Amino acid sequence: MNREEVSCFDFVTPGGNRHLKLEEGARLIMSMGIGSQLTHYQPLASLMGCILAEDVFAPFDVPLNRNAAMDGFAIKGESLLSQSSWNIVGQSFAGKRYTQSIDMHEAVQITTGAPMPEGADTVIMKEMCQLEGDRLNVEHALSVRIGSNVRQAGEDIAEGSLVLNCGLRLGPVEIGMLASLGYAEVCVYQPLKVAVFSTGDEVCAPGETLHADGIFDTNRFSLMSMLKGLECDVSDLGILPDDQQSIEKALKQAAKEHRMVFTSGGVSVGEADYVKQALSALGTTNFWQLAIRPGRPIAFGDLGLNASGETCLFAGMPGNPVAVMVTFCVLLQPLIRQLQGETEWVGLTWSGKATEEMKSRIGRSDFHRGIYSINDNGELEVRTTGPQGSGILTSMHEANCLIQIDENHDKIHAGDRVKVYPFSRWLPGYPLV
Ligand code: AMP
Ligand code: MG
Repeated sequence: MNREEVSCFDFVTPGGNRHLKLEEGARLIMSMGIGSQLTHYQPLASLMGCILAEDVFAPFDVPLNRNAAMDGFAIKGESLLSQSSWNIVGQSFAGKRYTQSIDMHEAVQITTGAPMPEGADTVIMKEMCQLEGDRLNVEHALSVRIGSNVRQAGEDIAEGSLVLNCGLRLGPVEIGMLASLGYAEVCVYQPLKVAVFSTGDEVCAPGETLHADGIFDTNRFSLMSMLKGLECDVSDLGILPDDQQSIEKALKQAAKEHRMVFTSGGVSVGEADYVKQALSALGTTNFWQLAIRPGRPIAFGDLGLNASGETCLFAGMPGNPVAVMVTFCVLLQPLIRQLQGETEWVGLTWSGKATEEMKSRIGRSDFHRGIYSINDNGELEVRTTGPQGSGILTSMHEANCLIQIDENHDKIHAGDRVKVYPFSRWLPGYPLV
């Protein structure tokens, strides 16, 4: 048996439990908590990334008035059947309309977006018009369609219709729409308060001197960045030593002010006791061995009630930096969105063609770091970034997606289809450039 064939999956978990499949783990995590009910009104300028806590309806027709879709001349459409010349009687500009009604022989000069004069239903575009003093002549009048170049009131959105759903994360487009409807503020869920610790006697804060057996703290910063990418209100609570009392004290304190507390490290076989014993005094915690790679082990539970009377949830993430990122993206991110009240998120995955062989094992879901691209035939192709060790961050940096090999396959051949998790969808805070 070579090294590849023996892994920690061959051994029983600390609790003697079997490994949970990805779907089972994902379902259990999502059952841990539902969305917060804490809401507040927030002004338009600071809504980016917030989750709507109310349905938003159109308070009026959009556009409000019948208006011109082109620069030109507004006329009565039926006059096109009998004439090719009109008297120019005035102007209608955006913000300054022509207030009288027009008859068959009259035309009003009009700019794009300006309200149509009473009686007019057609705009002849500027390019077709010849002017002679106060006369408008149109050579090909019969080619102008009656009713053309006019936007009807309510054409985009009818008054009273549902425009944005409760549970939607607001981006630039939605904020622009709210502005266009005249909303100066809307009701959103309050930011989710989360705390992040790292654990481990070997873990040093960047900026400090690295001791001989030390390792710089990666996880706190990647976790905080992803949580901020989801617009959480993040508390940086530093590094905890591998010491039960310190961990217990710190978690108890953090539980008061937060909806969720994250730690990384200290939950693997042999070390599990520190965090486990610290937690048993505070609430309920389950130590799970998930049949995913990278990723296991993970601890989930609660730390009792916080100061707002909500249960403070706990996630003890693995120690390896890549395992932290992958488990956060795939398993924790959907929970965070749910806790934030976001119901409109779709964890979209793609189907791509593998360009190389990829190894896994039956019964385990593997996430390889991958690079997707579109080939000359317009197909989505995907390859790995090379060595896939759980601690190799460069392979994550080079990647633009995760490739999932599900538990029913021990190998993917070149040409097989695989599930692709694009970072643009799955890695919060991933720069979209
Ligand atoms: P543990 O689960 O605590 O045994 O950690 C597993 C591996 O991840 C060990 O090699 C740790 O040194 C490493 N590790 C744990 N925490 C961190 C961290 N915050 N930053 C970088 N590496 C870490
Ligand atoms: Mg450790």
